[in-house]
Amino acid sequence: MIPGQFTYHRPDNLADAVKILASFGDEARALAGGHSLVPMMKLRLASPAHLVDLHGVAGLKGIGRNGDTIVIGAMTTQHDLLASAEIGAVLPILHETAALIADPQVRYRGTIGGNVANGDPGNDMPALMLTLGASYKLEGPNGAREVAAADFYQGAYFTALEPGEILSTISIPVPAAGHGYAYEKLTRKVGDYATAAAAVVLTMVGGKVATCAIGLTNLHETPLLATDAANAVIGTSLDAAALQAAAAAAVAIMSPAADARGPVEYRKHVGGIMVTRALQRAASRAA
Ligand SMILES: Cc1cc2nc3c(=O)[nH]c(=O)nc-3n(C[C@H](O)[C@H](O)[C@H](O)COP(=O)(O)OP(=O)(O)OC[C@H]3O[C@@H](n4cnc5c(N)ncnc54)[C@H](O)[C@@H]3O)c2cc1C
Repeated sequence: MIPGQFTYHRPDNLADAVKILASFGDEARALAGGHSLVPMMKLRLASPAHLVDLHGVAGLKGIGRNGDTIVIGAMTTQHDLLASAEIGAVLPILHETAALIADPQVRYRGTIGGNVANGDPGNDMPALMLTLGASYKLEGPNGAREVAAADFYQGAYFTALEPGEILSTISIPVPAAGHGYAYEKLTRKVGDYATAAAAVVLTMVGGKVATCAIGLTNLHETPLLATDAANAVIGTSLDAAALQAAAAAAVAIMSPAADARGPVEYRKHVGGIMVTRALQRAASRAA
């Protein structure tokens, strides 16, 4: 339970943070809320020789709007998201999801940037970012680049982040007015990671689904966008056959690990149920 030795760095601007990270390459890690990284270090699953604390870096925190896009600084905490009236109004699914992460202590420290950059299939925000069509701004020694959340996740704990890069902002297109949304998360107990979870954002026109996106958490080594499942409900009134087709299409792409949260077949089964419930609840909220 004691981490290996490391050198602590606390830069006050992004350029210096990038410079330090880049100079130590794989030996260095960014430190945000520390609520994933520090436990991994204590278990010796990660032993970075250099930690670059982002808390002193100016400009990495805050929630803003740029036209039809919400831009969130990576160091914005889950608590900050829950406290934001703007997020509650235009991205209520972000409120719903943040409220289901761990407990207030973790949410006070844990950041949205750390949650999406971590690469843990159990993190809740990545699948939501896929569902919302978000993109990440990565700043490195060679400048900045924008990567779609859909292209970011490569495997468990493997992402598109290159050594030396820092995720600075997350951009989320504002969903259509009147959209329905739901994040359904099955846990063993309050505050746990998901056994299975599904995010749904949809619009309804004349009682039929007009647009739909479905994301899946902890049902594969990366978050998944369940495109075939979403297509199965578009144009339908979400009748029993459409719900069943969507759940089946989602289950078909799931490949969860068998672990303390249950065997593979169980997790796929409840994953399908999360999809069904999220679709029904999202439809009930759509204008
Ligand atoms: C008891 C407990 C229960 C939890 N339950 C849940 C849960 O149900 N759902 C859930 O989603 N999470 C859960 N978490 C994890 C929590 O949400 C973490 O806070 C989050 O995963 C990581 O955010 P962080 O700010 O703490 O990042 P850190 O732990 O500091 O960093 C995580 C990783 O991301 C990298 N990183 C961080 N920020 C950046 C950046 N800006 N640019 C580049 N790389 C960066 C770090 O180098 C590290 O590799 C739980 C944690 C605990 C302790």
